[in-house]
Amino acid sequence: MLEIKDLHVKIGQKEILRGLDLAVGAGEVHAIMGPNGSGKSTLAQVLAGRENFHIESGSITWNGRDLCSMPIEERAREGLFMAFQYPIEIPGVSNAYFLRAAVNAVRRHRGEPELDAMDFLTLVKAEMKTVGMKEEFLYRSVNEGFSGGEKKRNEVLQMSLLQPSLAVLDETDSGLDIDALRVVAEGVNRLRSPDRALIVITHYQRLLEYIVPDHVHVLSAGRIAHSGGRELALELEERGYGWIKKEAVQGK
Ligand code: ADP
Ligand code: MG
Ligand code: MG
Repeated sequence: MLEIKDLHVKIGQKEILRGLDLAVGAGEVHAIMGPNGSGKSTLAQVLAGRENFHIESGSITWNGRDLCSMPIEERAREGLFMAFQYPIEIPGVSNAYFLRAAVNAVRRHRGEPELDAMDFLTLVKAEMKTVGMKEEFLYRSVNEGFSGGEKKRNEVLQMSLLQPSLAVLDETDSGLDIDALRVVAEGVNRLRSPDRALIVITHYQRLLEYIVPDHVHVLSAGRIAHSGGRELALELEERGYGWIKKEAVQGK
């Protein structure tokens, strides 16, 4: 579904990603771990299509298409969902309005009928119950004044409504209490299906106790330095990231 080959990305003069390779198949959950500053968020931003990140060489293919040449809105319509560590606030736009517009944009793209206000409310209220959000959040501005945990619940709500084909969660667990962590994990686990793929970026293995990944990769100095199964996350928890860095330096 997603294939990244020998990706080199610069921010300004600095090369951040240095030959990153990653292949994610449909139905798979991949965890990307790694020390701070290794380029995890850069990878997420590049997938999202943010500016300032200059792709020097390499390729990203998504469902057989060149992702890098797709405009940001098109990536979203095609089912790419990004959850960032710090979700944006949109003052003056109600959560209900925002969610319905997003859902209907995707439905139009898929050739499905748009949801009218009533149908949308029925759907969104049911989803809000599952993520433990009160209805009043529908009528507040998107994320404005939401606590960290409330923002994460809101992201899981967006994700559940949009049913993305590829979801990328960047450190969506940092600073979360255990209840919010469970909500995020349950939301992700509900999305698991043979036709979807998920990339969970996290510094800690705690989230991976709830979202059990099929593959774990360690990013170090801008490339995948090590890959393994779920047990790799536990090993990292015990041994830290130092040994990966040493291996990378020795060219193993
Ligand atoms: P991680 O998410 O793994 O902690 P990042 O992708 O955020 O790592 O950062 C990788 C490197 O890129 C770091 O050295 C960081 O300082 C640098 N970097 C990230 N964003 C910018 C930016 N906007 N301008 C300059 N350097 C940046
Ligand atoms: Mg970081
Ligand atoms: Mg980061």
